[in-house]
Amino acid sequence: MNIIVFMGPPGAGKGTQAKRICETLSIPQISTGDILRKSIQDGTELGKLAKSYIDKGELVPDSVVVGIVAERIKQDDCKNGFLLDGFPRTINQAEELEKLLDSHNKKINVVINLDVPEEELVQRLLNRAKIENRTDDTEPVIRNRMKTYFDQTYPLIQYYQKKGLLKNINGTGTIEEITSRIMQVIKN
Ligand code: AMP
Repeated sequence: MNIIVFMGPPGAGKGTQAKRICETLSIPQISTGDILRKSIQDGTELGKLAKSYIDKGELVPDSVVVGIVAERIKQDDCKNGFLLDGFPRTINQAEELEKLLDSHNKKINVVINLDVPEEELVQRLLNRAKIENRTDDTEPVIRNRMKTYFDQTYPLIQYYQKKGLLKNINGTGTIEEITSRIMQVIKN
């Protein structure tokens, strides 16, 4: 059973690395950001609610994302493990996740934290904005996402460190180099 949590600031390359690791391990990638963006595209009620937060660079309420994850991990493809990409993002989400996993008799195996210097992050995000056309990749929204990250998500690093689950990975270098650093940690 492989239950992996991927953490890191916006622009750290979580999504790119998560996809590669999931392919290698044959487990599903559960990205709350992707699920929310899909619901926006589909024009659902959830999408309308999510958009109002995402476009400002704020977090969608905990109850909403916890509900999404609770439903997703019940599905059959998650029975041999899964990778959570961009969830949890608050201490409260982490506590809810632990309860949820407890109820399935499951536990997180490892929390991967992708470490990238702050000045490199904004540049990477602005470059991505040109390529992916995300509505939350404009400079003021990027700055707010950084603030949100440092205020609400950064404390999770210490939270998982105390639990002995955290592995810091140097998130600079080529995509391949970073993947092999992560794989090394997962294998051990
Ligand atoms: P991401 O693609 O992971 O960067 O997520 C894009 C946006 O979706 C974030 O800036 C948040 O507004 C929202 N979002 C994604 N995951 C979460 C989460 N776990 N909790 C709250 N909001 C989230």
